[in-house]
Amino acid sequence: MPRCEICSNEVSKVYKCKSCGAKFCENCGDVDKLICEDCLAFEEELTSTEGIEFEEGEGG
Ligand SMILES: [Zn+2]
Ligand SMILES: [Zn+2]
Repeated sequence: MPRCEICSNEVSKVYKCKSCGAKFCENCGDVDKLICEDCLAFEEELTSTEGIEFEEGEGG
């Protein structure tokens, strides 16, 4: 069985991080985006400057 490079556990399936190339299990990152949790923390920092929304809820 393949081994996750993040948690070092043997798992049925690993995914390859497109950012750093590490093989990670589904518990150790975003398998849809193919980003390991190490790189996820980094990506969130990059994207956190955007996405500020103001709620417009007059009336109602
Ligand atoms: Zn893992
Ligand atoms: Zn990574």
